[in-house]
Amino acid sequence: MTDLVLVSRAADFAARSHAGQRRKGAAKEPYVNHLAEVAELLAVATDGSDAALVAAGWLHDTIEDCGTTRDELTDQFSADVASLVAECTDDKTLAKAERKLLQIAHAPDLTGRARMIKIADKISNLRSLIFSPPDDWERARLIDYLDWSDKVVAGCRGVSPSLERIYDETASSGRAVL
Ligand code: ZN
Repeated sequence: MTDLVLVSRAADFAARSHAGQRRKGAAKEPYVNHLAEVAELLAVATDGSDAALVAAGWLHDTIEDCGTTRDELTDQFSADVASLVAECTDDKTLAKAERKLLQIAHAPDLTGRARMIKIADKISNLRSLIFSPPDDWERARLIDYLDWSDKVVAGCRGVSPSLERIYDETASSGRAVL
């Protein structure tokens, strides 16, 4: 599979898998917007040199949110792509509060490429919260989210100065408007 086929196939798979899902924000953006943003951030951060990482960016929420299995991703894409997505997947059998704590605890143990996906994911989530916060989120909840996001990213640092800079700019513009 060429790089272009891999990335295009991942985008197609992600769009189909997340069809009908929307972001939590008041703008109710299609969920695929989030995946496109994460994939683009990773493509730019690696200067287009890591197609499997960009494909994993498209697919990073499929196991967690769509019931896709790691084996299915291995079959459709590659063991490398499947393993990157698996690294970015929370254990949904745990309560949400515990999953959030585990994201902080596990971040430093992730491979460098999975840490890049996590940072890109958090950039996209913060941008979305700033652009269009969910109607029922009070200011305190937004600030809690930012604080938690900072802690996850703190454990991911050292892999991509450009992504880390974008994250820092996004978080500080978020704090400025909250
Ligand atoms: Zn995500």
